[in-house]
Amino acid sequence: MTASPLRLRLDSSALVANWRTLDAMSGPAACGAAVKANGYGLGAREVVARLAAAGCRDFFVSTWAEAAQLADLGVAVSVLHGVRAEDMVADRPAYARPVLCTAAQVRRWRDAGGGGCDVMVDTGMNRLGIAPRDVADGLLEGLRIETLMSHLACADEDVPRNARQRDALAALEGRTSARRLSLANSAGIGLGPDYGFGLTRPGIALYGGRQRPEHAAIRQVVTPEAQILQRRRVGAGESVGYNATFTAPAAMEVAILNIGYADGYLRCFSGKGMARAGDAALPVLGRVSMDLLAVDVGAAPSLGEGDWVALDYRLPKTAAVSGLSQYELLTGLGARFDRVWS
Ligand SMILES: *Cc1c(COP(=O)(O)O)cnc(C)c1O
Repeated sequence: MTASPLRLRLDSSALVANWRTLDAMSGPAACGAAVKANGYGLGAREVVARLAAAGCRDFFVSTWAEAAQLADLGVAVSVLHGVRAEDMVADRPAYARPVLCTAAQVRRWRDAGGGGCDVMVDTGMNRLGIAPRDVADGLLEGLRIETLMSHLACADEDVPRNARQRDALAALEGRTSARRLSLANSAGIGLGPDYGFGLTRPGIALYGGRQRPEHAAIRQVVTPEAQILQRRRVGAGESVGYNATFTAPAAMEVAILNIGYADGYLRCFSGKGMARAGDAALPVLGRVSMDLLAVDVGAAPSLGEGDWVALDYRLPKTAAVSGLSQYELLTGLGARFDRVWS
């Protein structure tokens, strides 16, 4: 197969450095990695292989199908959405365990003979998890629990809810068979050592996301690049792209790139995004098309058909420009990219 005209440059050393940074920030807690949604769009297998080599031992996916993708990598995987009736099949992967998150799931797991599991407790987010009250009432008795965990709703903000959730989880220490507790995602790690418990579960910060000042050392991992399909001159007063939303104020040089909203470069970048060739800044002109994008190449006279340009994708800044979250920016990156690790 020929190479794709668009590629993601993925920086192994930045990924591993980010995990080491988060591991150090986690204090005595072990530091795991959330690799759901195909490793936030980077490729779960490639992420797991690199982090496992660096010493990461605990990986989190959402579904059993995602767990099955990691079969031969020799790592422990927790499935955050627990077990549905459909998941209780004989060939369920032995290296994966459920994060039981409803009372019905707890009963289903115990009735099937149990085995090691994790349990999610809801401490105020009202998303997934059993209630602390259910723990007090003995719902978890007889289960062999590895990690008892909860999830922070507002860890990227400094609000009293964070400490309330931390205290609600801490109150369950010693109340179950759990070997350890776990609360913090990427932002939660930044809240301080008393949020670490026995295990942290960063996702977005591994991949370059920065949500708090404490994440200043986190490095960019992902850079989308696209090839130029055509270079053209646009005369003064002529327009570019669908609905003619950009009109050239003077004659200008324009390049059409092989990337569009079907690749996750969404229409919110229309007239706002930025590409780069070396030091030259190449502003996005007009509407983003499905598979194509126009940029101003006035600053790069020698760029032509077949040359590659990088899209500006520093996560905090790009989120501010686009109105998308840092999570959406990564998980939306499509299947047409060649994922190229350095
Ligand atoms: C996705 C997820 C994480 C990782 O969150 P980030 O904000 O990406 O660090 C941790 N824990 C749970 C339960 C999650 O669903």
